[in-house]
Amino acid sequence: MITPEQLCEKIEEIYHRKGKAVIAIDGRCGAGKSTLGAWLAEQFHARLFHMDDFYLQAHQRTPERYAEAGGNIDWERFTAEVLEHLDDPEGLTYHLFEHKGFTLGKAVHAARTDITVIEGSYSMRPELTPYYDLTVFLDIDPAKQQERIRRRNGEEVLQMFIQRWIPLEEKYFLELDVRNRCDHIMIINGSLEGSAEKRRTSEMTQLTEEFVTTLPKLGFGLMRLPRLEDGKTIDVEQTKKMVDAFLAAGMKYFDTAFVYEGSEDACRQALVDRYPRESYYLATKLNAGMPGLTEETAKQEFYTSLERTGAQYFDFYLLHAIGKGNIDKYNNWDIWGFAQEQKAKGLIKHVGFSFHDTAEMLDEVLTAHPEAEFVQLQINYADWESNSVQSRLCYEVCRKHNKPVVVMEPVKGGMLANPPAPVKEIFNQADPHASPASWAIRFVASKPGILVVLSGMSNLAQMEDNLSYMKDFKPLSEAEADTVKKAQDALTSIPSIPCTGCRYCVAGCPMQINIPSIFSAMNTNLVFQNKERAQGSYNMATRGDHGKASACIKCGACEAQCPQHLQIRDLLEQAAEMFGE
Ligand code: SF4
Ligand code: SF4
Repeated sequence: MITPEQLCEKIEEIYHRKGKAVIAIDGRCGAGKSTLGAWLAEQFHARLFHMDDFYLQAHQRTPERYAEAGGNIDWERFTAEVLEHLDDPEGLTYHLFEHKGFTLGKAVHAARTDITVIEGSYSMRPELTPYYDLTVFLDIDPAKQQERIRRRNGEEVLQMFIQRWIPLEEKYFLELDVRNRCDHIMIINGSLEGSAEKRRTSEMTQLTEEFVTTLPKLGFGLMRLPRLEDGKTIDVEQTKKMVDAFLAAGMKYFDTAFVYEGSEDACRQALVDRYPRESYYLATKLNAGMPGLTEETAKQEFYTSLERTGAQYFDFYLLHAIGKGNIDKYNNWDIWGFAQEQKAKGLIKHVGFSFHDTAEMLDEVLTAHPEAEFVQLQINYADWESNSVQSRLCYEVCRKHNKPVVVMEPVKGGMLANPPAPVKEIFNQADPHASPASWAIRFVASKPGILVVLSGMSNLAQMEDNLSYMKDFKPLSEAEADTVKKAQDALTSIPSIPCTGCRYCVAGCPMQINIPSIFSAMNTNLVFQNKERAQGSYNMATRGDHGKASACIKCGACEAQCPQHLQIRDLLEQAAEMFGE
């Protein structure tokens, strides 16, 4: 026997594990199935389906069908219209049953919810149970059953129940062993009201569409905070002024990470210690991919972040920079489950991840982890069609999985704030007063399904510029979108190395040279003339076991694999020169 409160706890457990739950309630007529279904639906903001809406239509009511245990329900239609579409992001449409004439009634739409409740006799037909996460059998003493039906429907209807409907139900329960096949048995005595505290559904449900559309679209990225003259220490006083301006403009979302040196501490001083906790949203990240970590030290990052920020809980918590190189750690150490545990304790409101790899891999990760509520992606107009970053493709994967997107690098690490001259000219002609950064940020913020666009602001002037167009954000008009398209074309026409990032060349290189990443660093210099950033990318690409460009022994194995027929050996010579080897 299970109590209503225990049942709610079971549902919460499933939800926290899977990010969704389907509950079926079967049992004897008069036992309170519809009452329990409605109560659960209210507790969890769930959608509710009644098996009564799937009675047989006139032409299906044959003696053979009624002879079948539980055959008096159109389980085939219930499967086709409802169960097979439970995960459809746009919800599902099914038909009500019209008792008059035993026909199909009007079609109704049920929006997608994370919790689904199905109530009614015959919901435990074996064909239906694979779709369920939890099943309940509602029982009732026969005398009480008759008394309830009499009270509810009158004496005449009670006699119909006794002669026809109760025997049919009993045959179904017996032949299909329904009571024993249910996970839990429950008896409802008295009213359900007040017997369980209201679920904290706002915390349980995943990010709602309303939340996503109404959240102010500029987020304060705390990775590139202003520094004092020593170039190292964060300028907390200037950071405080930036935080004040940001919140005063109505913005709410702050993004830091365990690995952003000094950032979580500065966040505490400039934000957490100075503003009511509920007046902002704070995101931070756990990075399991750093060298030298163990499962224990990786998980410890969460507690350290809590302590450093003093935030008590995180509104958004991310598994940091997921890609092929580190996904095994997140999986093997079950960082996913760890984050859900913290969420169940109320220490995290929403769990997601930031991602740096192919759209194909992103699709796999989101399929394996439907509990992830949002994804942080590098999206900007320069990388939109990039073969290596795959901004557009990754964004489309998130849309397919109905996951809101947090945008990082909308200005491509600052490069689009000072784009190449032909791009600047296009923007200037369209609007001489708008900064290049404003075009970049508005481009991404205008896309549907964007939760927030992070801008890693480094001084008050950048903050003020961002706020000037994001405070009363207006999506790009059609003409403005055309302007950005022209800018994208202008960028593409600047000569660069046409490497598609396919990486076919990498596996056979005896010197383990990270060829496509070196070419990407060269392109940063060629297209944006940003030597400093290019050098940083080159240093990253040649870390650890990866050979430098000058390590190439000119064996040619890579060129034999390159579908673009690039003269890789010559290009690596140019790279060695460009990066001063
Ligand atoms: S030519 Fe150079 S880059 Fe290409 S496989 Fe040989 S060593 Fe590696
Ligand atoms: S095979 Fe060619 S196109 Fe592909 S990553 Fe290597 S250099 Fe680039």
